[in-house]
Amino acid sequence: MFDRLVTLPQKYYDHHASGVLISKLTFNVTQLTDAATNVLTVIVRDSLAVIGLLAWMFYLDWKLTLITFAMAPLIVLIVKRLGGRLRHMSHNLQQSMGDLTHVLEETMAGRQIVSLFGGQDYERKRFAKTANWVRRFQFKFIGAQSASAPAAQLVAAIALAIVIYIVANRPLASEITVGAFVSYFAAMGMLLDPLKRLTGVNGRLQKGLAAAESVFELIDETPEIDTGTRLVESATGRLELRDLSFTYAGTQTPAIKDISASVAPGETVALVGPSGAGKSTLANLIPRFYNPTEGQILLDGIDTTTLTLGSLRRNIALVSQDIVLFNDTVRANIAYGPLSDASEAAIVNAATKAHAMEFIRELPEGLDTLIGENGVRLSGGQRQRLAIARAFLKDAPVLILDEATSSLDSETERHIQAAIETLRHARTTIIIAHRLSTIEKAHRILVMAEGRIVESGTHSSLLSDKNSLYAGLYRFQFSQQTPTAVPKLADAN
Ligand code: ATP
Repeated sequence: MFDRLVTLPQKYYDHHASGVLISKLTFNVTQLTDAATNVLTVIVRDSLAVIGLLAWMFYLDWKLTLITFAMAPLIVLIVKRLGGRLRHMSHNLQQSMGDLTHVLEETMAGRQIVSLFGGQDYERKRFAKTANWVRRFQFKFIGAQSASAPAAQLVAAIALAIVIYIVANRPLASEITVGAFVSYFAAMGMLLDPLKRLTGVNGRLQKGLAAAESVFELIDETPEIDTGTRLVESATGRLELRDLSFTYAGTQTPAIKDISASVAPGETVALVGPSGAGKSTLANLIPRFYNPTEGQILLDGIDTTTLTLGSLRRNIALVSQDIVLFNDTVRANIAYGPLSDASEAAIVNAATKAHAMEFIRELPEGLDTLIGENGVRLSGGQRQRLAIARAFLKDAPVLILDEATSSLDSETERHIQAAIETLRHARTTIIIAHRLSTIEKAHRILVMAEGRIVESGTHSSLLSDKNSLYAGLYRFQFSQQTPTAVPKLADAN
């Protein structure tokens, strides 16, 4: 399951809450392992006991045993009927457990918002509601489970009573001896216990089967399409987008429409435009987090779908809007994955270039300091600098910076801009930034609106047209940044 999880495409995660997935891997799997071990031993052992006892009874008196057999369909019917209900309840129970984990996860992740916006009552109610569903399904499940063993036993007891009745009314000189009858009767009595266990285990078996369905559903999910066979060890970084269109699953309007552009090796292209214009979507198409609905992306003239995902992604470094850090040391966060064997000097060099070394030196254990879940013990700017250092260390020919410097103060941003400046000389860089001051030096600026490239040019050429969207965005930001008269303390007093 975990193996599948790490190879699933981004679109799967867009439609599945992580809490529900966590519950699948914890709660559902426990139920499946119970069915695969404890339940299996009961089924094998007790089925053998039942078969053995029935064979012995058949040998002693086959006619009487046929009466017992006549009851079998009734037991099977009860077990099947209740089994269906048990399976249904198990499904519901597992789904509501998933919802419960989801609520728990969201409440913990959003604890600051919960407490600041007074969401405790709302969360309490949400939790109570899902917990109540868990309770209800659990009760219904236990109800059905408790009914199955006595029902099956009742049928078995009726069979026993019929056998005794028939034997009691037989003529004295009947074919069965007293000894054989006692043995027959004992065997029949001995049938009850394994039968009870077999029917009792049905609940756990159904839980396991319901869990197996959800477990295999995940395992059978189609992993990221990686049919490419070609390898590019170290690309020059020439990118070409040809008639690219992309629509997110479940939506009607394309997020990217008919985009064609080419980026030369070493060129820096900035993507700007209003929020929701499709800038991040376009950036996400390059490493194939999503596959274009139409069109092609070429790296060094090779269609990226013919490259293996590993080879394509080895050539791309990305610093995204949402910084992802792991609850590990600073060192492990910079030298992540295959870079983990990078030398100390290389790590320090990357951290220095990203202006992260300044604060890393201040940390209690330097590069070996644990940074907490998603870097909770660091500031926003520090987290961003670690993510940039990770990209520096990767040293890939294509660099994508999606709002990579948005959390930095002007001073640090200026330093990082300088570092990015040096870094980008040797590589193709795609920069997405809202603050237009950060992309002025880009070789080319592509202005996007509603999924299309509407303007393209350098900062000065775009500004020269007063009516361009870029000039409008620039004027707007400029007016926002003009310091307004700050009331002096003396005036206030
Ligand atoms: P911003 O500057 O605010 O980050 P952007 O230009 O990067 O915006 P995108 O994030 O690319 O914009 O979003 C483009 C469009 O695609 C938006 O209308 C958004 O609602 C939609 N969108 C983004 N991600 C998804 C997703 N995972 N599923 C469905 N629609 C999405």
